[in-house]
Amino acid sequence: MSGTYLGLPSFPKAAHDSTRDTQLRANLTHATHTIRTKRATAINELTDWPQLRAAGAAIKDHTLHHLDHYLLQLEAAVTAAGGTVHWALDANEANTIATQIIKNTGETEVVKIKSMTTQETGLNHALETAGIHAYETDLAELIVQLANDKPSHILVPAIHKNRTEIRDIFTTHMTHWGRPAPDNLTDNPTDLAEAARLHLREKFLNTKIGISGANFMIAETGTMVILESEGNGRMCLTLPDTLITIAGIEKIIPTYQDLEVFLQTLPRSSTAERMNPYTSLWTGTTPHDGPHTFHLILLDNGRTDTLADTTGQQALRCIRCSACLNVCPVYERAGGHAYGSPYPGPIGAILTPQLRGTTTPLDTSLPYASTLCGACYDVCPVAINIPQVLVHLRERITQGGPTTTHGTRTTIQPAKGHRLERTTMRATRWTLNHPTALQHAHNLATHTRHLHPQHLPGPAHHWTDTRNLPPLPPHTFRHWWQHHHQTPPTTNTGKGTDTRSETATDTGTDTGTAGTDTGTGTGTGTNTQTDGGPQQ
Ligand code: SF4
Repeated sequence: MSGTYLGLPSFPKAAHDSTRDTQLRANLTHATHTIRTKRATAINELTDWPQLRAAGAAIKDHTLHHLDHYLLQLEAAVTAAGGTVHWALDANEANTIATQIIKNTGETEVVKIKSMTTQETGLNHALETAGIHAYETDLAELIVQLANDKPSHILVPAIHKNRTEIRDIFTTHMTHWGRPAPDNLTDNPTDLAEAARLHLREKFLNTKIGISGANFMIAETGTMVILESEGNGRMCLTLPDTLITIAGIEKIIPTYQDLEVFLQTLPRSSTAERMNPYTSLWTGTTPHDGPHTFHLILLDNGRTDTLADTTGQQALRCIRCSACLNVCPVYERAGGHAYGSPYPGPIGAILTPQLRGTTTPLDTSLPYASTLCGACYDVCPVAINIPQVLVHLRERITQGGPTTTHGTRTTIQPAKGHRLERTTMRATRWTLNHPTALQHAHNLATHTRHLHPQHLPGPAHHWTDTRNLPPLPPHTFRHWWQHHHQTPPTTNTGKGTDTRSETATDTGTDTGTAGTDTGTGTGTGTNTQTDGGPQQ
């Protein structure tokens, strides 16, 4: 990803400050609760929501498993329709291609549709360095840009600002970017929207180059699809002479018909609308209609590395609806900036460390930015099992192990700062596998119970800073059992045999298709969990 976000503090440090900002927390709580309530109403209107959810996951999984085929099909279709396709391995390459295209036209200004992908590449900064001004035209993105701030939400980038703060930003900063805000601007939403409309109209009418992302790319026809709510996107897509679209390679879907599923699930999950207000589709160029020139930049930037991870690859299903952010108790309190990435919230906690790798304190802290409550999984319209990926990434961070970096299979070392956790877990595992040692440990613990500190020393103090250590009882469960039943509760071979491994088998079958993740446990009982629909 772009260097723009690197060097930021780890999640706990950033969240430490943001959770103490009472205004920020009030803004976030109000906004996320409002959106989540509306979304639940919109979803409950559809009786076939579980089927739609499973279908969306299946389409995305099928496409990801045949990405090589569909990308080439898309390239051929876009080229046949008069567009030009560029391939970008990373953020720098994508920015360089876009900059060169703009420079070739001689223009120094572009208008932009809200795009997570260009935030990921840090395009605005790269263009600024090359002397090209990029104007955001989505209302929330405009607010963030005018305030020289960073987005903090996928759908509502200025969710951390309230109306009064927005009025102040418009009044102070609009004049430096173009048409000033009207005199005596109030914080009435209608007045604020009108001020933005007048300010932006100048840019739409005078700028010759538009830049967009893409919600979906249809392989069979080479068609790009943008969903937006304000109409600014349509202006950017139709008025400029040149249109540049930068999209991650995972945004592809095979056919027009597949769009039917996402045009139902995405609006309801993101803005709680039955139907999206503005849905724009375009295929290459058309004489006398829209831009004369169309460039599509296909961005990898860590996506094929992510695809190589059989557990983590499901993050690439994401359609950026932001539903998981609005239900996340951690996001609600910490805010989006604490994630140090264009992708905040639960999806950011699993996507960013995969795209960027787990080499910085920030990226190694992100998979821990969750309570693992599972609310994100319940609401995800493409059934991404976010808690499963979080646990998987935590294991990678503490244990190291095989991963794919820049297309090469490699083995990474455990991240720094997890030695105590790793040592504790290994010692616990050994003790649990040796019943005699476990019994001695129990006896030692109960006999020394009066000596136990109330607060743990060293790094473990984080645990007891916020909770009380439960007092140990004077006798172990084994003692209690022997006293009441005269027989030991389990057969103690004393040879370190774990009898559970002889009676329980977890096949952990992951079909990897159709959004079904079936884990079957057989043993003393049968536990079958199918993750193809919402968890009730
Ligand atoms: S992970 Fe799921 S819920 Fe979260 S933004 Fe992506 S599609 Fe939406």
